[in-house]
Amino acid sequence: MFRPDLMVDGVHQVTAELLAELGVLGVLIDLDDTLLPSTGDALDAASEAWLRGLQRAGFPIVILSNGERGRVARLAEHFGIEALALSGKPLRSAFRRALGLLGTPPERTAMIGDQVFTDVLGANLSGLVSILVRPLTPGKLPHTRWVRHLERMILRGGERGRPVHR
Ligand SMILES: [Mg+2]
Repeated sequence: MFRPDLMVDGVHQVTAELLAELGVLGVLIDLDDTLLPSTGDALDAASEAWLRGLQRAGFPIVILSNGERGRVARLAEHFGIEALALSGKPLRSAFRRALGLLGTPPERTAMIGDQVFTDVLGANLSGLVSILVRPLTPGKLPHTRWVRHLERMILRGGERGRPVHR
């Protein structure tokens, strides 16, 4: 349940070709520390180019975030896509609403995010393809740092002997 289907260093590694190989038709993307550093509002050129590239390739994309509305809405507007803020990941209800916006079935949809307990767990519980990225920042809150420590322990235990991209 905590094990991602795929681990990558960053969103730029999740190419249109890779998604096609995985049979993915639509993408749910986390915001904080996946697309945007949790410590600021600066979208880097690589993330921007990556998302625009997927849009050009025809993938529907929806932001699925537990973050606050203003920040999420600003980025969604920037890209002209839909978004759910304060979504309640990993609950199934959050993924059901997001899939409704995307219009793709769970097994043909990827959830890309940096957190095991929200993004990966939620995707796995709802039958999506889970893709874990390395967080853009170490996290600004002590709580986040503690969660990251637990995530590393779980991933080390679960992934022993399997090739991982980190
Ligand atoms: Mg995140």
